[in-house]
Amino acid sequence: MRKPVMAGNWKMNCDNEEAKELADGVTAHAGQVEGALVILCPPATALTTVQSSIANSAIKLGGQNMFWEEDGAFTGELSAKMLLSCGCEYVIIGHSERRGRFGTMDEADADDLAAVFGDTDATVNRKIKSALAAGLKPIACCGELLAERQAGRTDEVVEAQVRAMFDGVSASDAEKMIVAYEPVWAIGTGEVCDADEADRVCGMIRATVADVYSQDLADGMQVLYGGSVKPDNVDGLMAKPDIDGGLVGGASLKADSFAALIESAAQSAQ
Ligand code: PEP
Repeated sequence: MRKPVMAGNWKMNCDNEEAKELADGVTAHAGQVEGALVILCPPATALTTVQSSIANSAIKLGGQNMFWEEDGAFTGELSAKMLLSCGCEYVIIGHSERRGRFGTMDEADADDLAAVFGDTDATVNRKIKSALAAGLKPIACCGELLAERQAGRTDEVVEAQVRAMFDGVSASDAEKMIVAYEPVWAIGTGEVCDADEADRVCGMIRATVADVYSQDLADGMQVLYGGSVKPDNVDGLMAKPDIDGGLVGGASLKADSFAALIESAAQSAQ
């Protein structure tokens, strides 16, 4: 039985004061929930603030990104060791807002300017291996662009991303990972993927993991859906057999709406 997961990706939101208020609110609502694994991923500047808020709860802390080197001349970057020292157990890797789809910012059209941070399948794989080597558990993201879906290429694109993220990762390390299926067109748009279709793609991801490793490993892996998950659509998603939880942006920024998502995840386990 896979434990349901609700992970909040706060993105570039919340200064330290706001982060404390939000983390305190989530902790008050859901700090002792046992039926679901709850992970908060605040911006790096708020990690230690949030860690203090959740210290006496079951809630876990995650980073939003990391670099694969341990230390050195990499201005602006954070290593796995640094995230661990702030209390992180998890780290989001390969979020679509960090995967580069373009050579330069000039090649991106106005709607795609968020996709300029340059992660590729290869760098995502490298970050995953570095996180695992240091003892952090990656929440590894994959998902197709709208144009790829419209061209009927969803499965091909997602399967290739999944195979690339696990390249060279041992089975004992893969067991520590969470995979998040996040169709890029559904992130932050209010346009949630149909629950049956999200479940189908999550099932395809699980089948790919079974092919790379084993059915046992795939059966134990938590596969999340992300993309406009809200209190009014979460139950339908959580009811699906291959969706083990959510990676949530917008709805994780309000303690009461995130608490409703946690509650739904915890209920789905019963
Ligand atoms: C995300 O940040 O991964 C995400 C899915 O955002 P939202 O829930 O706002 O669509």
